Amino acid sequence: MHALDIIRKKRDGSALSGQEIEALLAGYLAREIPDYQMAAFLMAVFFSGMTHEETWEFTQAMVRSGCRIDLAEVPGRKVDKHSTGGVGDKVSLIAAPLVAACGVPVPMISGRGLGHTGGTLDKLESIPGMRTDLSVEEFTRTLACAHLAFAGQTDEFVPADRMLYALRDVTATVESFPLMAGSIMSKKIAEGTDALVLDVKFGSGAFLATAERAEEFARLLVAIGTRAGMQTVALVSSMEQPLGHAVGNWLEVEEAVACLRGKHIAGLGELVEAISGMMVMLGGNVPTLEEGIRRCRRALWSGQAYEKFLEVVRLQGGDPSTLGSRRVRPPDLLSAEVRAASDGVVQRFETRTIGEIATWLGAGRQKIDDPVDPLAGITLAKKIGDRVTRGEVLATLSSRRSEALREGCALMERVIELGAEPVQAGPVVRNVVDSQGTRAWSPPAVLP
Ligand code: URA
Repeated sequence: MHALDIIRKKRDGSALSGQEIEALLAGYLAREIPDYQMAAFLMAVFFSGMTHEETWEFTQAMVRSGCRIDLAEVPGRKVDKHSTGGVGDKVSLIAAPLVAACGVPVPMISGRGLGHTGGTLDKLESIPGMRTDLSVEEFTRTLACAHLAFAGQTDEFVPADRMLYALRDVTATVESFPLMAGSIMSKKIAEGTDALVLDVKFGSGAFLATAERAEEFARLLVAIGTRAGMQTVALVSSMEQPLGHAVGNWLEVEEAVACLRGKHIAGLGELVEAISGMMVMLGGNVPTLEEGIRRCRRALWSGQAYEKFLEVVRLQGGDPSTLGSRRVRPPDLLSAEVRAASDGVVQRFETRTIGEIATWLGAGRQKIDDPVDPLAGITLAKKIGDRVTRGEVLATLSSRRSEALREGCALMERVIELGAEPVQAGPVVRNVVDSQGTRAWSPPAVLP
């Protein structure tokens, strides 16, 4: 089987067999197939798509590219979460310790920044000393000890995703149903979780533009998870504006820590509650979502969730003392403010562009081996519906790249739209998709 024949077949719109997909991935892993041929294949998939059967085979081949983790020795039902990617999406940093503090083990295998979106691994690694390149043995030990472990793809664990993820990031081939589904679900199947909550995002900051597309993608992910024997639930959520105020690795860690210490941030708080309450319910420790949310609130308010985060940071080599206080700014880190040109109300954000600006500032990658600057990013002072007066700060940008900072500020002025009309941001969580079908999300009434 030649790579060229497989690429041509996909380019011409035919379905590939499981064997062909397996051969291609194995050849790429063995470095017999070069990046340029794999990039051509990714682009062929981007345009021609894959059938559900091919997507399943692709996911399975990704899982088989490395080892599967056996978590049988970790007691309890394991539950993980994964997001399709957004701007300012620090939900995993808050929800994972929150759920673990409720006694549900969370084996979390995440990704790095992808396209205009940030990645949990880059955020965690902005904590001085924190390691996410855990061996399977270290991952399992940390999970057994703390009920939580954060790691990424390695040479032994879904190595195919590690390589394809980086290649997709720099070849404009991220927004493809089969490539995203294979990437997300292979990590979750291989990590050995029993249940999974997916956050499928739509809107100007997401890879999927509309709620309908997000729902369709959620159904595909739920079908793959169910077929793999994992209880899988997807929440369809809006990415019309960045989640919270911080966009950028360390800035997002700081914001997540503030939330873990009890700060409520509109939008972000609701999403964290929905996801973590659902995870606790799937963990089987409580009978209802209401009870799951109630448990999470208690874990948050009692400080247990924050303690759990500190514990995992310490276990994974990070320095927890950097978390509670403001980090010393290196002298070469520059900052600039974007101010309102007129009075008005924030109507909308071009959220994708905000993610792209953060990348240029240094928070993400434009080439495969670009380093990521932990301190680069954007802090939004205003969100949709906020009133501003002329000259008021809308956002602060930080970077070590003076040119990117200047251009980023000029662009930021254009992507924050001000108008006269009062507006309100819509609800963040819209729908729930599981093996039974799709229904509208209504936040459960939870008594304290
Ligand atoms: N998250 C992943 O792990 N992979 C994708 O392709 C998108 C989001």
